[in-house]
Amino acid sequence: MSKIPVGWLDLVTELRVMLQLAYPTVTVSEMSADRGWLHVRVDDSALAPTGRQILDRRIQGYVTKSLSTCMCCGSGSGRDRADRRVVTCDECEKESCDA
Ligand SMILES: [Zn+2]
Repeated sequence: MSKIPVGWLDLVTELRVMLQLAYPTVTVSEMSADRGWLHVRVDDSALAPTGRQILDRRIQGYVTKSLSTCMCCGSGSGRDRADRRVVTCDECEKESCDA
C-alpha cells in the first residue's frame, strides 16, 4: 500500500470517518495514492446492492475531490501534473515540494 500524501490526509480522514459512522459493516481493503489519484477499495459485501451503489457514489466523490487537492498542502486548487502523476497547486509546484 503506497503512502497517502500529506496533503490528502484530511480528505482520507474525512472519508474514513464517514465510513465508520455511516457504514460500520464496511471495511477498507485498500486506500492508496497510486498514479496520482486516490484508490479506495472496500469490502461492502454486507450491504444490499442499492446500498453498495450509494456508497460507491459517495466514495467516488472523494476520489474526484482528490484530483484537485494538492498533495503537498491540501489546498483545493491542485492540478494534475500528468508527467509525474502527482496533484499539486501552483504554489507548491514552484517550490518543487515532493508529494
Ligand atoms: Zn499546494
